[in-house]
Amino acid sequence: MTHSAHGGDRLTLDGGPKPGTAGVRFGFFTDTSVCIGCKACEVACKVWNGVPATQTAFTGHSLDNTGALGADAWRHVAFIEQDGVVGRDPVGRTQAAEGGRAPGRTQAAEGGRAPGRTQAAEGGRAPGLEWFGDDPGLPEGAHGGGVAAPAIPVFHGAEAAPQDQAFRWLMSSDVCKHCTSAACLEVCPTGAIFTTEFSTVVVQDDVCNGCGYCVTACPYGVIERRAADGGAYKCTLCYDRMRASLQPACAKACPTDSIQFGPLDELRARAADRLDEVLEAGQPTAQLYGADPDDGVGGNGAFFLLLDDPEVYRLPPDPVTPTRNIAAMWKVAGAVAGALAAGVVAAFAGEVRR
Ligand code: SF4
Ligand code: SF4
Repeated sequence: MTHSAHGGDRLTLDGGPKPGTAGVRFGFFTDTSVCIGCKACEVACKVWNGVPATQTAFTGHSLDNTGALGADAWRHVAFIEQDGVVGRDPVGRTQAAEGGRAPGRTQAAEGGRAPGRTQAAEGGRAPGLEWFGDDPGLPEGAHGGGVAAPAIPVFHGAEAAPQDQAFRWLMSSDVCKHCTSAACLEVCPTGAIFTTEFSTVVVQDDVCNGCGYCVTACPYGVIERRAADGGAYKCTLCYDRMRASLQPACAKACPTDSIQFGPLDELRARAADRLDEVLEAGQPTAQLYGADPDDGVGGNGAFFLLLDDPEVYRLPPDPVTPTRNIAAMWKVAGAVAGALAAGVVAAFAGEVRR
């Protein structure tokens, strides 16, 4: 039987792989078009993984007070304010401002049923989350907890602004990309970074020697050494939770299903459908980021639906695993060395003949 989740009959529940199914690649699809910037993901990540609290302060240039991913910020919710954006408002704003319907938010706002949220909102369990057992680690009220989910606010479009004063907030919860070709892993000299049975990338704290090679290798600037102990830290995609058939804490806590967790193939198919919806809704700059297995890192295990170009979110537009060209570089170096050696031999032979 197939249930509707996240807006369509796309998620096969019965018989589908669960976290803890070795050999199935699991990942995140972060749909930034429905992120409300609540930061529940950041908090849930810190609580579950024991990531140290950090002193945050108003930066004066953004409401983003986390700043960036780092050793003590394994999820980072970016707040990007765009002025004068006319006709490119995020999904939800334009239509709501016109009194219309915003994809992904409308039904809840109208007191109806929002795809992918319905059962939780009604005190039940959202379809698509039925794989996961009850989770003792997070407070009641998170997905599947049997407590009504909060209504989805349509705050972007609550007040219509004159077009010349139009602006929009882009909110996006960033995370380690769990690259197919993970540079951090490839350069690690101690084997502290490994690929799990779910094809996620994890650092073993007790093996890391703090050399920092991974920090400079990561094309996204994700991994960082922690000043307190010198070790390198980043998202583990909640490896411990997955092994216990639980979804990662951030996905569990996200009230809008902006962070979706599951088998990567399924997420990619769902993301392609969602992109079509968002483009149809009048967001011509919407795009998937990190979903292409032919990109410079072989595709990401954590990919995104963005409403604008990656640079707007401070993401590299064309990331490449730095070690990808090593074989080609060795070939060139070998050819140059061979040519030099041949030249030396030829010069020596000429000298002997004279
Ligand atoms: S290279 Fe960077 S983004 Fe990719 S898995 Fe390693 S830390 Fe994560
Ligand atoms: S991704 Fe979800 S939990 Fe995180 S800030 Fe956005 S809406 Fe909140």
